[in-house]
Amino acid sequence: MTSQCLFCRIAAGEIPSTEVYSNNNVYAFRDINPAAPQHILVIPRKHLHSLNDASPDNQALLGELLLTARHVADQQGFADDGYRVVINTGEHGGQTVFHIHVHVLSGRHLSWPPG
Ligand code: AMP
Ligand code: ZN
Repeated sequence: MTSQCLFCRIAAGEIPSTEVYSNNNVYAFRDINPAAPQHILVIPRKHLHSLNDASPDNQALLGELLLTARHVADQQGFADDGYRVVINTGEHGGQTVFHIHVHVLSGRHLSWPPG
């Protein structure tokens, strides 16, 4: 737990959020400023700054983040319609919160390429 980190505090329940899924390793909750009708963030409970800080030690956790994205898509009923999974990384990637997170977006047709 990094006490200054927004998403560490959300995972710890110190800052309110709308939970979608939770287990010992990961926490999924609704984005406060949704970019699509369905916009869920999946984070590890363990603080990891960004994908750039991931190492082979984090292999299982990174896999669990993706499998959790797949699980919430099933659970929320949009898996069959389709969805997008995004990890914004660093300045050019548009990352604004430096605790790694997976965006899961659905509920409308998403354009490509991103802006
Ligand atoms: P990124 O720009 O990829 O770092 O994504 C950060 C995301 O966190 C944005 O989509 C924000 O809307 C979202 N966000 C910021 N603060 C909160 C919060 N307190 N609860 C839920 N989502 C948040
Ligand atoms: Zn954190």
